[in-house]
Amino acid sequence: QARKRFGQNFLHDPGVIERIIRAINPKPDDAIVEIGPGLGAITEEILSVNPALQVVELDRDLIPVLRTKFFNYPDFRIHEADALKFDFSQLAGDKPLRIIGNLPYNISTPLIFHLLSYSGVVQDMHFMLQKEVVQRMAAVPGDNNYGRLGIMTQYFCRVQPLFEVGAGAFRPAPKVDSAIVRMVPHTALPHPAKDLGTLQSVVRTAFNARRKTLRKALAGLVTVEQLQSLGINDGLRPENLGLAEYVAIADMLVDRKADNPVQNGESDD
Ligand code: SAM
Repeated sequence: QARKRFGQNFLHDPGVIERIIRAINPKPDDAIVEIGPGLGAITEEILSVNPALQVVELDRDLIPVLRTKFFNYPDFRIHEADALKFDFSQLAGDKPLRIIGNLPYNISTPLIFHLLSYSGVVQDMHFMLQKEVVQRMAAVPGDNNYGRLGIMTQYFCRVQPLFEVGAGAFRPAPKVDSAIVRMVPHTALPHPAKDLGTLQSVVRTAFNARRKTLRKALAGLVTVEQLQSLGINDGLRPENLGLAEYVAIADMLVDRKADNPVQNGESDD
């Protein structure tokens, strides 16, 4: 009954569900949003503490199942929508959101990037993800899985891998192992960039050529002299630079553009 295109693997292990709920630690007044409730394994436990839970579910066949199952919770709200396009800020009232979910693994990376853009209205996020994705989110310079996902996640959030969950906790069992991760948005960004889009494009460009030296990987964007002026060794590889250094490169590009608007194809009109 699970449908592959929706990445549906339903949790059925009560011990694992209980552990997830304990990690989330829901309180009655929290503004909790669950992405992909499925058949409601986590939903049910949250609702018993927090009856105003809201969920975002894409599979329209699951909506009546959820309505029936939770008919005795009048404040429970179901948004039939694609979480990738959903505007989470519309759910933020006077309280920051607590977002949770056993996410569909086939869209987890774009979904995390989408959710990071709401960090300003979020208290915390708890997700079940493929174990390797959690490792990439928490990776630090020098790790071989360090890259765009880790840098951009850590730009916005403190990332805390909590525990692993074996495939047997789900039906059907996925082919991969899973892990629970907690993400807490920084109250003040540790390394704010002057322009987020520029930071994203520097990081993307660098990791498109992660095996090359920075000199080569960033050749179209910055010169060797510019890297050196920032104190960055151009012989290093993209995986050796920390967030602060990527922000420094991006900020330099923003400043350069401001200094030479015409040269960069911009004019005042
Ligand atoms: N939370 C349930 C559980 O733990 O048993 C189900 C988890 S299942 C891995 C992922 C859920 O996300 C499914 O219910 C699926 O229909 C839903 N889903 C898939 N793509 C989605 C999307 N783009 N937006 C919202 N929900 C989605």
